[in-house]
Amino acid sequence: MGKITGFKEYKRQATPERDPLTRTKDWKDYKLPQAEEEVKIQGARCMDCGIPTCHTGTDMNKLTTGCPVNHLIPEWNDLVYQDQWKEALDREHERNNFPEFTGIACPAPCEGSCVLGINEPPVAIRSIERAIIEKGFDEGWVKPEPPKIRTEKQVAVVGSGPAGLAAAAQLNKAGHHVTVFERDDRVGGLLTYGIPEMKLSYDVVKRRVDILEKEGITFKTNVDVGNDYPVDDLEEDFDAVIMCGGATNHRDLVVEGRELKGVHFAMDFLHANTKSLLDSDLKDGNYISAKDKDVIVIGGGDTGTDCIATSLRHECKSLTQFDYNERKPDERDDTTNPWPQWPVIHRVEYGHKEAKAVFGEDPRAYQVLTKKFVGDESGHIKEVHTVNVEQYIDENGNRMKKEIPGTEKVWPAQLVLLAIGFTGPEQGLIKEMGVKTDPRSNVKAEYGQYKTNKKGVFAAGDMRRGQSLIVWAINEGREAARECDRYLMGATQLP
Ligand SMILES: Cc1cc2nc3c(=O)[nH]c(=O)nc-3n(C[C@H](O)[C@H](O)[C@H](O)COP(=O)(O)OP(=O)(O)OC[C@H]3O[C@@H](n4cnc5c(N)ncnc54)[C@H](O)[C@@H]3O)c2cc1C
Ligand code: SF4
Repeated sequence: MGKITGFKEYKRQATPERDPLTRTKDWKDYKLPQAEEEVKIQGARCMDCGIPTCHTGTDMNKLTTGCPVNHLIPEWNDLVYQDQWKEALDREHERNNFPEFTGIACPAPCEGSCVLGINEPPVAIRSIERAIIEKGFDEGWVKPEPPKIRTEKQVAVVGSGPAGLAAAAQLNKAGHHVTVFERDDRVGGLLTYGIPEMKLSYDVVKRRVDILEKEGITFKTNVDVGNDYPVDDLEEDFDAVIMCGGATNHRDLVVEGRELKGVHFAMDFLHANTKSLLDSDLKDGNYISAKDKDVIVIGGGDTGTDCIATSLRHECKSLTQFDYNERKPDERDDTTNPWPQWPVIHRVEYGHKEAKAVFGEDPRAYQVLTKKFVGDESGHIKEVHTVNVEQYIDENGNRMKKEIPGTEKVWPAQLVLLAIGFTGPEQGLIKEMGVKTDPRSNVKAEYGQYKTNKKGVFAAGDMRRGQSLIVWAINEGREAARECDRYLMGATQLP
């Protein structure tokens, strides 16, 4: 513990952000680098707890609590305070192949379970994590480290999201020949084509992928396994396969008028925007534009926030985000949501701050149920009809919603984005591979084992656990690599 009284002396200071209004004019990172001296002070706030709840990742009350990759948080907090950045970086890489992805975009369940957070703002763990890895890149400490000895084993990883990248990195470290197949034209999965540029830039993904390539991993993009590359060939050409295809089957909203032009899935909007942005700085026009439109985002989660931030950069005319649920409380409810659970509280995310800066108010409308979409004579969306709902508990103790009479409302809209979640992985590859699924349509493979019903075929990340977080995908990719290595070699030294 670097400074025994640090937590009493210093206030929390997370990574600073750019001015919300100015940043909507470009697609650059909405955050600013944090001064090194400030990061050191933040490290001094850590109490080096006897039981560091921050680094023990688990699910509590269906929410992630603590760090799923079991980051050595108290150790690197202390090392940063002691100015030992290189050692701090080594500690980060011990548990996480890609601290830059989590340091930028993880919701930081570690902070939700930080002991200091019981009665003070928690240690700014994510900000410190990001500062360490960025210094590592700046100083040239992060460089390719190819394995010294190669095995004869060939492993295919299907999907290049964080799970696939982590699995590939670990298997390559063990000396196997790894090929990553990706159906998109760029590597990264949802890191590239889900999370928008201003939150997690493609340069950050590419910077890491370049290192992985130099370490010996082969990336094959524009290859849809099961279509462009038959699974029979895959099984013949490789000694083992790890399926990391994600879980991006959209949840649809089945209401009257759903077929109208201008009603899109959020992912179609976000994917096309990033592709056009990276290909041509949006000059090719191959994206769904929100310019001068009244935009309604249906869904109160993070994907919805990304749609808000993207629409603002297109210069939309107005913006509303519907949330079916009530506004969450400002403070956690200690009886139903006690520490160290992830605090279920009202959060103002980057997109909400930006919307307020542009339009003068938070864009969210709560307890809103979409009843129907109404179009104009050309079949284009013109209005969204809604009613408000309220929660009640039925005779069996279940939480239910009922409509509140007299709260019907009509909203003008020329663009509607559906961000109401995902139902599981796409089933095409799963069927082709002949692997079994669980009742939620995810690939059936036990956590910690990752083995499917087919010999030599493993599954990890969202494709196994359902739509989740980057940090869980990294955890599963690493662990699936360990089990795959054990299968190939009879024993493993991978963590
Ligand atoms: C809009 C959005 C924003 C998000 N923001 C955050 C965030 O800020 N923080 C966070 O922690 N989590 C966030 N998430 C969740 C997070 O991105 C995912 O949990 C994580 O990316 C899952 O990683 P994965 O590797 O399992 O799958 P994915 O990232 O989905 O990658 C799967 C890859 O497999 C490829 N693939 C699928 N089938 C085939 C095939 N047959 N052949 C070849 N390739 C194939 C896909 O093209 C894709 O590239 C967000 C999710 C979305 C949708
Ligand atoms: S729980 Fe918080 S204060 Fe305790 S070791 Fe972890 S980061 Fe430090």
